[in-house]
Amino acid sequence: MDDLKKYKNITRGVSDTYINVHPIQRGGVLTAEARKALLEFGDGYSVCDYCFEARVDLVDNPPVHDLTADVAEFLNMDDVRFTAGCRHAKWAAMHMLCEPGDTVVLDALAHYTSYLAAEANRLNIVEVPHNGYPTFEIDIDGYARKFEEVEQKTGKLPSMAVLTHVDYRYGNLADAERVGRICKEYGVPFLLNTAYSSGILPVDGKKLHVDFLCGSGHKSWAASAPIGILATTYEWTTKLFNKSTVRGDWSGRGFTKKEVALFGCSPVFGAPVATLMASFPAVVERVKHWDEEVKKAQYFVSELEKIEGFHQMGVKPKQHTLMNIESLPLHEIAEKDKRRGYFLYHELKKRKIVGLHPGMSKNFKINTYGLKWEQVKYVAGAFKDIARENGIKVED
Ligand SMILES: *Cc1c(COP(=O)(O)O)cnc(C)c1O
Repeated sequence: MDDLKKYKNITRGVSDTYINVHPIQRGGVLTAEARKALLEFGDGYSVCDYCFEARVDLVDNPPVHDLTADVAEFLNMDDVRFTAGCRHAKWAAMHMLCEPGDTVVLDALAHYTSYLAAEANRLNIVEVPHNGYPTFEIDIDGYARKFEEVEQKTGKLPSMAVLTHVDYRYGNLADAERVGRICKEYGVPFLLNTAYSSGILPVDGKKLHVDFLCGSGHKSWAASAPIGILATTYEWTTKLFNKSTVRGDWSGRGFTKKEVALFGCSPVFGAPVATLMASFPAVVERVKHWDEEVKKAQYFVSELEKIEGFHQMGVKPKQHTLMNIESLPLHEIAEKDKRRGYFLYHELKKRKIVGLHPGMSKNFKINTYGLKWEQVKYVAGAFKDIARENGIKVED
């Protein structure tokens, strides 16, 4: 603690003059309304001024209660709570639905937080495989096969199936509706992880037969971290949002309005809720323009693939703005460059583009969500320039 001054003027170095293509950051860029709300509600428990029901989701001023209902309607689910992130939402659903020793079936592209949610709840996991390089497509029918394998081995069906709607490695969009139908057929509750989908593209929970829909406010709903979304249907509300029954053995104290999986009321009280709320009208609007975002992503891929040795990994054509590009020629150059893996990072930074993982070069992840067409073209052009300058062939 010899230098506390360093905490006082922290800056990020991502000014408006840079284009940020960070794979996890595009959908979490705040709207102007959210930036204003952040200042207004930045103080600690700022949304709790008028709390009369002992729970954040029931507060009427600011209208968190209405927001809860509107987010449920937006996702075509019946009830919603705000959580500490998508990871907490998954943990909470598994915690309330499954018993230790149960099995959950998940896709082999699941986020580490899905695996850890199962681990923390002492659940066994069984993976549904993908088809490997280069498309890494999840075998949807594998869900049925794994359900039967689990039943044969343990004597009962898995207590939950988890599908990553859009995976974080290749940005593949999985056929959630088909998984939903399989789950329905077997009677296995279906958790859909929409960290990379809800908030940026239309998601209809009922149409996809989803029982538990988990989302990430800071990844895809233009909100400040940390905030997640846990949505469910009437069938599950009582069990999922089960209220506390604990009693102090000496005092007799009880907390009967508090919900166990939400740590009582909710773990988010200030900036996260306020920014999610302020951005919500823009989010409702922006998902209608998802087609245009997909077009930009496909255009970006077609430009980058003009560079010799550059290939988009994952399913083609792209159905999402998060992509993974194999770039072996760049890797060979980086090997000889004294900046090593940082070569591409520095070359892009010179051109006012940030967000690529420093040190990656055999392949890299990039996200074009929300970039203007001219920015998409500029970034693609920058990659082509860097390639040419380093003697890599580029198609005209
Ligand atoms: C980013 C991500 C998460 C984590 O979301 P948090 O809201 O930060 O907990 C979970 N799953 C997937 C697929 C992700 O991409």
